[in-house]
Amino acid sequence: MKVIVIGGGPAGMMAAITAAENGHKVTLLEKKERLGRKLLITGKGRCNITSSLPIEEFIQNTPGNGQFLYSCFKNYTNKDVIQFLKEEGLEVKEERGNRIFPVTDKSLDVLECFKNKLKKLNVDTRYNTRVIEIIPKENSLQVKTEKDTFEAEKIILATGGKSYPLTGSTGDGYKLAERLGHTITKIRPSLVPLESYDKNICRSLQGLSLRNVQIELRNKENNKAIYEDFGEMLFTHFGVSGPVILSGSAHLVRLKNIEELLKKRNIVLKIDFKPALSEEKLDDRILRDFAELKNKQFKNSLDKLLPQKLIPIIIEKSKINPEKRVNEITKKERKNFVKLLKNFEIYISNFRPIEEAIITSGGINIKEINPKTMESKIIKGLYFAGEIIDVDSYTGGFNLQIAYSTGYTAGM
Ligand SMILES: Cc1cc2nc3c(=O)[nH]c(=O)nc-3n(C[C@H](O)[C@H](O)[C@H](O)COP(=O)(O)OP(=O)(O)OC[C@H]3O[C@@H](n4cnc5c(N)ncnc54)[C@H](O)[C@@H]3O)c2cc1C
Repeated sequence: MKVIVIGGGPAGMMAAITAAENGHKVTLLEKKERLGRKLLITGKGRCNITSSLPIEEFIQNTPGNGQFLYSCFKNYTNKDVIQFLKEEGLEVKEERGNRIFPVTDKSLDVLECFKNKLKKLNVDTRYNTRVIEIIPKENSLQVKTEKDTFEAEKIILATGGKSYPLTGSTGDGYKLAERLGHTITKIRPSLVPLESYDKNICRSLQGLSLRNVQIELRNKENNKAIYEDFGEMLFTHFGVSGPVILSGSAHLVRLKNIEELLKKRNIVLKIDFKPALSEEKLDDRILRDFAELKNKQFKNSLDKLLPQKLIPIIIEKSKINPEKRVNEITKKERKNFVKLLKNFEIYISNFRPIEEAIITSGGINIKEINPKTMESKIIKGLYFAGEIIDVDSYTGGFNLQIAYSTGYTAGM
């Protein structure tokens, strides 16, 4: 049987490999000059291939329609992709947070495994070939590119999402599917940095990376915590970024009225700069510091406690006179200062644009796809794989596993 796979990312490559292994004649159409451009930048160039968690837990880590992926995750697991890479000569290692990486720390080596396998299976790979239309015929499907026309019995659409468009993922697939009668759920950025109303503070702190902070995103309207996490974050000229912020964004994007909440300044990011110490212990620590430095001015007493960049901002927010000698600081002032260090607030104004998102939330409506086969319920012979579908996970290798598992299922 003739099969055309559109899109040479991890989902499309896995789909092409699987279909070819089953004896089909496969053509892979990729609009860029090379395969897997996004795969190359994953995990900061190291590629967090998958997670070592039991495959059942992948669903819990997929807040965007995880249940829909039940069959796919069972069909092709994390162990399967690790075995596939091993057979292609690449060993993996496990790091903190159950994250699996190639032992070589190079995403290029992961991509090479896919490319070698495609070559061995004689998959006809066409580069610089952008698909512009899919036309259903009586017993086949026609695929129009900017240059040629192809025909096949089965088509797998794996054009990815809309983020990092330089990699080739520009949302073409949504338009192709829409013209065939599919609906696309709202496209939004997820795993994305956040912008803040407190621009001046963020700008002053730009570049400051904090490794061990506790954060909380809170909805001030109902005073409910939306997300809590511990780890690394970063201040930027527009707001905040870093792992805990990206994860938090995936929770924010799921709030129904998020646009309105953001507009009304109801989303606050609380940062605990000293999560290892209770308020009491932190107060003791500051008391000790102040006793040691009793004749110093407040502004010169915080070097051991806080990063340099943070000191002027914290002093300003504390409303304690910076010239004051530490032994003149009142108990009330000190207590408020402790509270400030454990509850520093930044108001969130928006998500960064989708171009800067790790993942696209939204896509082909899952109600229109058979979860057992990935076949369209609208167009016979059309299948979907990867980020184009309305599914998305947290960080940790789950999003790539979605690409392999849906790609494999569609390929089968
Ligand atoms: C910076 C960054 C880091 C990431 N790190 C990780 C990580 O470490 N671990 C993880 O699990 N996930 C990570 N992700 C997410 C992961 O990269 C994606 O989930 C995954 O690449 C999706 O695979 P895909 O094959 O569905 O789509 P893509 O990888 O986007 O591939 C789609 C392909 O289709 C091609 N295409 C598009 N339109 C057309 C057309 N009209 N005709 C022909 N071809 C077309 C594109 O050129 C592209 O090659 C990261 C994402 C980013 C942006």
